[in-house]
Amino acid sequence: MESPTPKFCDCPGWAKSQGQIHSAQVLAFTHGMPYTGDRYRFCAWCGRDLSRADSAPVPRPVVMAFARAMEARLRQNEHKGGWANCDNGWLFGRLIYKVGMLARCILDDEDGTSTLQYGVDMANYAMMILDNEELLG
Ligand SMILES: [Zn+2]
Repeated sequence: MESPTPKFCDCPGWAKSQGQIHSAQVLAFTHGMPYTGDRYRFCAWCGRDLSRADSAPVPRPVVMAFARAMEARLRQNEHKGGWANCDNGWLFGRLIYKVGMLARCILDDEDGTSTLQYGVDMANYAMMILDNEELLG
């Protein structure tokens, strides 16, 4: 069964502003000026299309920045041929190695470049495992 079209967004921006939006609507209504314009279609905070029940919120800026860093790292390693034929046990071993290196960078207060690289590598190995398990769509 298809879920109904959402009237409100479930993003943090909407939640933060919801009380003021409601107050403005009540104030306008009590002064005889109810809103009669077109229904809004997109969330002003995350850009989600509220006219579609299956629309997902637009990723927040930090998530997009992380995804771009992951993609850049994948492109640097494109010559290795991808991960579709890699054993998930081997990928998991690489993931754990990167977790350890990330921990070492944090504990040793390494420069941001190494910390970022190990963090992004760790995320890419996790993504590869989930992709091989066909869990990412
Ligand atoms: Zn939203």
